[in-house]
Amino acid sequence: MRMTKQRQAILAIFKSTATPQSAEMIMDSLVDHTMNLSTVYRTLEVFYDAGLISKSTIDQTSYYYDNQKDHHHYMICLNCHKMVEVDCHLSHFADDVAKRHGFKITHHDMTLYGYCRDCQDALKE
Ligand SMILES: [Zn+2]
Ligand SMILES: [Zn+2]
Repeated sequence: MRMTKQRQAILAIFKSTATPQSAEMIMDSLVDHTMNLSTVYRTLEVFYDAGLISKSTIDQTSYYYDNQKDHHHYMICLNCHKMVEVDCHLSHFADDVAKRHGFKITHHDMTLYGYCRDCQDALKE
């Protein structure tokens, strides 16, 4: 993967925040406005394919987050869209599956969807 200035700028945003970012949010954070939204999208997909970032989709919007340092997953509330970080316990499972199928796993992605406690209470009323 070629590391252009534009790509470095996008990666820097991921390094500076723990909040999952949509392409629009990345657009807003970029100081350099020479990139259009489709370039940002394409770059995010390149990073995703390379295993640099993970992706979760909610309401047809993709959110990307840094996969490298402090790898974790998210639980996403379908009602208020709150994202809760959870630790990853998948590495043993991934190793095991990889071994059994002779597969070389480069990265994985998992998102849990449901309703947070506040929304469960609110929806009950
Ligand atoms: Zn909620
Ligand atoms: Zn994981």
